[in-house]
Amino acid sequence: MKKILVLEDEPNIRSFVVINLRRNGYEPIEAENGMDALSQLEKNPDISLALLDVMLPDIDGFEVCRRIRASGSKIGIIMLTAKSQEIDKVTGLMTGADDYVTKPFSPAELTARVDALIRRLGNDAGDKPSYEISSGPFLLNTRNRTLEKDCKRLKLTQIEYLLIKLFMENPGKAMSREDILRAVWGEDFSGELKTVDVNIRRLRIKIEADPTEPEFLTTVWGFGYKWGY
Ligand code: CA
Repeated sequence: MKKILVLEDEPNIRSFVVINLRRNGYEPIEAENGMDALSQLEKNPDISLALLDVMLPDIDGFEVCRRIRASGSKIGIIMLTAKSQEIDKVTGLMTGADDYVTKPFSPAELTARVDALIRRLGNDAGDKPSYEISSGPFLLNTRNRTLEKDCKRLKLTQIEYLLIKLFMENPGKAMSREDILRAVWGEDFSGELKTVDVNIRRLRIKIEADPTEPEFLTTVWGFGYKWGY
């Protein structure tokens, strides 16, 4: 039975959702606030999908969504938005939600959305397609040469793309500047090793929260660099 997290602070709505999910063959896991939801997800790593209410007593549903995605989780997320305002839907989808249902909703509508998303997730054979490399909050798509951090697209030059691809393909491996130069610029490149440093610096500005204290692309002193995540 697929586990579904139901985050909703109003007991009436929560039990209404839970009953309907059970009736449709799902195993609901209940949470009444944002922090509770995050700890339930930790306790139940096999949860397939989460229904997240937006207005909650502690952290809001968008923040819960953001934290789920920041942890690298690819579970299905449906936002339960109270208002029918477009802004809620847009924010929800931008923070990494897959779908949204506007309250009040009928049991049939909710289960139809849940079924559809479960089907969609199931069709993505395996965990992730072979052209995707994920690491922490990053998702690199080698088919269309794009990088996302926390589901947000980062604009990279082709050199920066090749650099981050090299690092994400070799997590934890210390790479010398010579190795990096050869792998990214090619054997015939006659430029200086400084070229590597300059481009790493630019890449850090795009991917690190604080480029002077890099958390992901770290320096290996006197040697080169490492994907430290
Ligand atoms: Ca609420």
